[in-house]
Amino acid sequence: MDDAVYENYKRAGKIAADARDFGVSLLKPGMQLLDVATTIETRIIKNGAGLAFPVNIALNTLAAHYSPRHDDSLVFQKGDVVKLDVGAHIDGYIADTAITIELETHRYDDMIRASDEALTKVIEVLSTHLPLHEAGKTIENTITSHGYKPIENLMGHGLKRYQLHSGISIPNVAALGNKNTLKEEDVVAIEPFATNGTGHVISGEGSNIYLCKDSMKAKFIRDNKTKALFTKIKNHFGTLPFAQRWYHDLFPKDEIVMKKLLFLGVMKHYPQLVEAKGGIVTQREHTVIVREDGCEVIT
Ligand code: MN
Ligand code: MN
Repeated sequence: MDDAVYENYKRAGKIAADARDFGVSLLKPGMQLLDVATTIETRIIKNGAGLAFPVNIALNTLAAHYSPRHDDSLVFQKGDVVKLDVGAHIDGYIADTAITIELETHRYDDMIRASDEALTKVIEVLSTHLPLHEAGKTIENTITSHGYKPIENLMGHGLKRYQLHSGISIPNVAALGNKNTLKEEDVVAIEPFATNGTGHVISGEGSNIYLCKDSMKAKFIRDNKTKALFTKIKNHFGTLPFAQRWYHDLFPKDEIVMKKLLFLGVMKHYPQLVEAKGGIVTQREHTVIVREDGCEVIT
């Protein structure tokens, strides 16, 4: 990694961390999810970074993947367990970070502590020498020691330029890891999830988060209007996920074309990820650069 790339990661990390902490200060009963998401995104852009993905706000039994629609009317309630997940990039170099806040009540303090501590512990032991099953074991043991379950089918992930999921996965349980280790200068997001439910998530309704697929099918879009719009969307959002809100701002009258692109399979609409037995979910996430003798947290 040359110095310029490293500096980009450091800046992206700083801006993402600032956005996360600023976001926490906005989380109050009565606030709209939509206002919180757009206020945080505005701050990231103002600080000179790009949006690596839409601000995600997942409440209670929802583990991940929700961003408000342009006309969203959801409001935070006292007692909500809020996962706030934000991403910033500088020239494509991404930092991804998340935190859980319970609004004005303290029923889930220990579950929040469980995912916090799991992240802290795995960061303490992570280096180029740590087999991935050991990373999973550290997370799993920490969460189960608090009496909760890790969510097994959500994982940390490698980051590459303009790529939110590079192909590397960091498991949250020992059984899904192997003897492989990470390489020096791998950039990875680690994200333990804890729950009092069954320990895995299932797909729910749409998240309002989309992605242009890198698909051969794009060649076969027949009508010119759809083809032209797809090219515009692809040029604008590239390989990163985008919000329905952002799409709506750019192409307010083209909801039908969007539906067509989803139907044709050239666009993906992520589903919400819901705890399978309706358990409450907590999450904590940092992005780190892996080193021979440890790792460097950039968020
Ligand atoms: Mn994240
Ligand atoms: Mn992530």
